[in-house]
Amino acid sequence: MSITDLLREDLRDFAGYRSARTESVAGDVWLNANESPWPNAGESAGVLRRYPDPQPDALRARLAELYGCAPAQLLAGRGSDEAIDLLVRALCMPGQGAVVVTPPTFGMYAVSARLHGVQVVEAPLRDTPGGLECDFHAVAGAALESDARLVFLCSPGNPGGTALPLERVAALAERLRGRALVVVDEAYQEYADSPSAVALLAAHANIAVLRTLSKAHALAGARIGSVIADPGLIAALRRCQAPYPLAAPCVHAALQALGAAEITATRANVAVVVAERARLAARLAGLPGVRRVYPSSANFLLVRFDDAQSAFERLLAAGIVVRDMRAAPGLGDALRITIGLPEQNDRVVEAIAEAAVTA
Ligand SMILES: *Cc1c(COP(=O)(O)O)cnc(C)c1O
Repeated sequence: MSITDLLREDLRDFAGYRSARTESVAGDVWLNANESPWPNAGESAGVLRRYPDPQPDALRARLAELYGCAPAQLLAGRGSDEAIDLLVRALCMPGQGAVVVTPPTFGMYAVSARLHGVQVVEAPLRDTPGGLECDFHAVAGAALESDARLVFLCSPGNPGGTALPLERVAALAERLRGRALVVVDEAYQEYADSPSAVALLAAHANIAVLRTLSKAHALAGARIGSVIADPGLIAALRRCQAPYPLAAPCVHAALQALGAAEITATRANVAVVVAERARLAARLAGLPGVRRVYPSSANFLLVRFDDAQSAFERLLAAGIVVRDMRAAPGLGDALRITIGLPEQNDRVVEAIAEAAVTA
């Protein structure tokens, strides 16, 4: 069986929208897309007058090089959020079927599934001395039992921070071969010291990897994410995507951000975050009132408190906004703290130390 057999039956011969930019024709007078013949008076460069290239070759090639795949295995889009939504819409029949998620996890998998009328089946992470760990056996069982087309894994996990062992991901894909696509969301992979699941694609066509420029590459505002998968699946996803998903200024910004000098600077910043992560974790773990600091392979720490409310308030009073995780399953006493600049991390420690004193 081919991986495209996992696509919705009713979309297998779907051609999608043919935009003016998808026709490959030549000419020097372009009157096929109802664009204005003049640039906007406020836009001196005049580059925004035209609809953008749906998948610019230069960007796709650069991203593929960065992530270690072939350009045909990569689809760029409006953040990984768009990729999540595309996968749900292309693989799940509306109002039917299921996807599997591993809570506590990133909320967008369930949001996209619910908006599409697809059941969300949960295989919760296990809280172990080593951190929040994926129960691969439960994930496989949940997927087979619910006949899920999609399994969303997050590595390193948000908010858990744990990176998944690749051999377990590969074994899961093997068990679900012909049944489901295993999606590995690697939004925080740059901060991890373990290899990317892109390495598994050659042997496992039912794995897709999500990457983004929003975190380590500091380009959240440009909204550029990628899905990396089998070329046949990528071609099918492209037919389901909006006609012009990438805004021209964002493509330009992304290409700038991925130059050799910029990548070197990004790597240096990531190294600072990794060092600060260890320093902040050690300092927080030594504070009274801190129950547990989870090990993290990402750019944040998940922290449990005796009194999370008081810690949250102290931080706010000090002008520091962190993510309140108390509504997440099993995390009723937890906050998620993004690693900031060294002096910002010092302020976090001071505020939490004060919370303990006044508690
Ligand atoms: C932040 C985050 C994303 C969002 O990525 P965008 O490319 O900005 O849409 C995706 N997945 C996880 C797990 C995240 O934490």
